[in-house]
Amino acid sequence: MIQEIVKQLQETKKNFKIKKAPTQLYPLSVEKEYQKELLRYVRSYHNLIKENLYPKLGQFKQEYTIIDSYADETRDITEQVSNTMMIEYSDAALSSMLYSIATKTNAFNKKQVFKVLKGMTGVDLFYSDPQLRLTIEPFIASNVELIRGMGNDYRKRIRETISAAGRNGYTVTETSKLLEKQFRISKNRARLISRDQIGKFNGQLTRLRHINVGITEYKWQTALDERVRGNPGGRYPDARPSHWARQDKRFSYKKAPPQGNPGEPIQCRCWAEPIIKI
Ligand SMILES: [Zn+2]
Repeated sequence: MIQEIVKQLQETKKNFKIKKAPTQLYPLSVEKEYQKELLRYVRSYHNLIKENLYPKLGQFKQEYTIIDSYADETRDITEQVSNTMMIEYSDAALSSMLYSIATKTNAFNKKQVFKVLKGMTGVDLFYSDPQLRLTIEPFIASNVELIRGMGNDYRKRIRETISAAGRNGYTVTETSKLLEKQFRISKNRARLISRDQIGKFNGQLTRLRHINVGITEYKWQTALDERVRGNPGGRYPDARPSHWARQDKRFSYKKAPPQGNPGEPIQCRCWAEPIIKI
């Protein structure tokens, strides 16, 4: 445990002091990689819809309006597309992609957590990893579900768009525009999922590593920029709870704030600066 190591350092080194923690960096490169994977998934879905559904709409013939009977056909087509997606992106394929993302996040986190501890104590700490399996497996399972949910939601909105077009007599051109809009909505969703999930997972890994070396408390650290929620001069001055107000405040892992430790609230980029008690 880190307390014993620090005690030894105090006894053996004169004037030993805990130094200011260096900044723990966020795994932005892994987030971007995950985002790319999710966008690839969404794009595959969209391309299949385009290939199979758009020709049926009599594309490029502006005078055609969508008729009600397209709704049934659309249902069949989207079901087929869904089946194709399940083959191309099987659970096994998604899990192996997510395993790679998880191990990269973990490697990044490990380096950062120990960099911070070394910066504070001056020594390299070697500890066996905490029970990572217990974190990696739920990450993979819940992300497979999020990806499937994203696909299902896209399929549902495509069907609703065709139904509405039939009811309202939209032209093919108008309908195509609405279908493209559904694609954009799904792309935004993919971006949100990658940001949120990597942040959460990274926060959980930090907590596990801290607890594993005997750290029970931390100081809340924000990215100190205009995107920090609650920053009075920033983009989200009215966001509650304010993470800006938590800057440098002490928290305990045993009694985490309502939405979780740093990184766990939705799209949170904050980090936990370990408190080493001496
Ligand atoms: Zn935050």
